[in-house]
Amino acid sequence: MYGQVIEGATQAAGTVAPIEIDLRSDTVTRPTLGMLQAMAAAPTGDDVFGDDPSINRLQERLAADLGFETGLFMPTGTMSNLCALMAHCERGDEYLVGQLAHTYKYEAGGAAVLGSIQPQPLEQAADGSIALERISSAIKPDDPHFARTRLLALENTFGGQVMSQTYIEAATLFASERGLATHLDGARLFNAAIAQGISAREITKHFDSVSVCLSKGLGAPAGSVLLGSKSLMSKAHRIRKMLGGGMRQAGVLAAAGNYALDYHVEGLADDHRRAKAIGEALKTVPGLDVSVATNMVWVSPGRNPAGLDRLANHLMTHGVALLNRRPLRLVTHLDFSDLALAEFCGLVEAFNRDVASSLT
Ligand SMILES: *Cc1c(COP(=O)(O)O)cnc(C)c1O
Repeated sequence: MYGQVIEGATQAAGTVAPIEIDLRSDTVTRPTLGMLQAMAAAPTGDDVFGDDPSINRLQERLAADLGFETGLFMPTGTMSNLCALMAHCERGDEYLVGQLAHTYKYEAGGAAVLGSIQPQPLEQAADGSIALERISSAIKPDDPHFARTRLLALENTFGGQVMSQTYIEAATLFASERGLATHLDGARLFNAAIAQGISAREITKHFDSVSVCLSKGLGAPAGSVLLGSKSLMSKAHRIRKMLGGGMRQAGVLAAAGNYALDYHVEGLADDHRRAKAIGEALKTVPGLDVSVATNMVWVSPGRNPAGLDRLANHLMTHGVALLNRRPLRLVTHLDFSDLALAEFCGLVEAFNRDVASSLT
C-alpha cells in the first residue's frame, strides 16, 4: 500500500515527461517523495483531544521559532486569519487593514459576515504599508456613533513585496501606543525573511499574532499555523471549532508542514533567483513594464499592451499555465526547476525571434 502511494507520486523510470510549467501561483506544488514519506510515517492522534503528536510538534516548534507562547494548526490561511480577527475583535469592533490586503479583499468578507467585525480598509503603498497618519486618522474616538477600533492587520510579503522592518517597527509601536492589537498575515513570511537575510522571528516579534501558510512556497498540500499568546489562542481555538476547523488525525498534514519547515525554507532563495531570471527574460520583450518581488513577477502592458497579450498567448499555447490577468503575475515555486526556467526563457526568446519579428 505504502509503496503504491509513493510510486504513484513519482515519474516511472525511463519515461520522459514534458516539463510542466505552471506559474499561476505557489500553491500549485505537489508533495515531494520525501514529504509523502514523512506524511506516511507521521504519528497521529485525535487533535480535537489534543492528541496528535505531529500537530503538537508543528505548533510548538513554530511558536518557539517565531517567539509566541503557542500555536494552532489550521486547515487554511483564510480560516487562520479569520480566527485571529475574531479572537482579537468582538462583535461591533473594527480592524484597520489595507484595501488590497488578503484579510480584507480575498477572504469573502468573513470578518464582517461571520464575526460582525467592521473592516476599515485603508489605502496602501506598493509594499502593503499604510501611512501612520492614515492609521491615526482612522482610529475612532470612544463615542457611541463609532465601531471600536481594536486591531491593525498587516501583510508581509504583500504581492511578493517585502514590508520594511523600519515600517513594521514604527507601525506596530504606534498601534500599541494607541491601544490597538496587531496581526500579521504572514502567508509568505519566510519569503520575506529569506529575502532580507534575517530570521522570521525578527519580523514576527513585533506582532501579537501571526498566521503562516505551509501550502504556499513551503510546498505542503494544506495547512497554516496561527500563533499568539495562550489567552488569545484559547479564544481562537473555540472559534476554529465553531468554524468547523477542528480536525482529527490531521497529523498527516502537519507532518508535511514539519517536513517543509525542515527542508523547504532555504529553497525559497532559489524561487527568488528564478523569479529574477524570469523578469530578466521578460524585459527583453520591448515596451513591457516588468517588476520582480521575491517569488513574484509582475508584468504590466506598459507601451506594448498588444505585445503582452501576444506573449501571454504564446506562452500558454506552449503549455505554460498562467492566470491571464492584467497585470500578469507569474509566481515561482518548488515545482518550477532550473530546467523549467531554461525552457521558459527559450519560449520568450522564440517569441522575440518569431512572433514579434513576424509582425514588423
Ligand atoms: C494564500 C494566502 C492566504 C490564505 O489563503 P488560503 O488559500 O486560505 O490558505 C492569506 N493571505 C495571503 C496573503 C495569501 O496569499
